Amino acid sequence: DNFDQTKIPQATAKRLPLYYRFLESLQASGKHRVSSSELSEAVKVDSATIRRDFSYFGALGKKGYGYNVHYLLSFFRKTLDQDEVTRVTLIGVGNLGTAFLNYNFTKSNNTLIDMAFDVDEDKVGQKIGDVPIYHLNDFKEKIDSSVEVAILTVPSHVAQGIADDIVDAGIKGILNFTPARLSVPEDVRVHHIDLSVELQSLIYFLKHYPM
Ligand code: ATP
Repeated sequence: DNFDQTKIPQATAKRLPLYYRFLESLQASGKHRVSSSELSEAVKVDSATIRRDFSYFGALGKKGYGYNVHYLLSFFRKTLDQDEVTRVTLIGVGNLGTAFLNYNFTKSNNTLIDMAFDVDEDKVGQKIGDVPIYHLNDFKEKIDSSVEVAILTVPSHVAQGIADDIVDAGIKGILNFTPARLSVPEDVRVHHIDLSVELQSLIYFLKHYPM
C-alpha cells in the first residue's frame, strides 16, 4: 500500500495493461500461479524483462512456483485504477472514430467513451454504440473536469485547433490518431499514434532487419 507509483519506469508502466489482460484470462480459467516463461510466451515480452518489471511491483517469483496470479491482479487493479471508470471523449466520428465508438474499451479496462463530437450535421444527434454524438460547438458546455482523456480522430488540418479546445476544457491526456504534431502545454500529455507511420516502420523493419 505504501507503494510509490512514480517509481515504475514508463516502459514498465506501458506493459501493465498487457500483463493485466493476460492474468485476468488466467484467473478466469482457474489458474492460481504462472511462471515468467509462460507469461513471456503469452505477452511476447522476454522473461528477463518480465522479472525486472515484476520486481517493481514487489512481486518476487518463487523458484518452481512462479507468480501468484491473485496478488498480481490485485496489485494491477490498484495501479491501473481499475476500480474507477476513466471517462474518455472522442472527437471526429469518421471511419476510425466510429470503429472506436463501436469497440469502446469496457471489456478489457474500466475506460468508457461516453460522449463524441463532430461538426457533420448528419452525425450530430446520432448515437453509435450507445455513445451520443454532439456538435463540437457544445464541447465546452458538455465537458467537465471528470473527463480525463480525449481521442482525436479528425482530419489533421483541424487537429491543432481542436487540441487547443481540449486543453482549454482541462483535459490532460490526448490520444492523437492524426498525423499532425500537436503543441500543448507541459502539463498535458499527448500520445501520438500515426497508423501509416507505424505501418511504414513495420515494413521497413521487415525489409532491413528480418527476424
Ligand atoms: P468519413 O468517411 O466519415 O468522412 P473519415 O475518417 O474518412 O470518415 P475524415 O475526413 O478523416 O473522415 O474526418 C473524420 C471525422 O472528423 C468526420 O466525421 C468529420 O466530420 C469530422 N470532422 C471534420 N472536421 C471536424 C472539426 N473541425 N471538428 C470535429 N470533427 C470534424
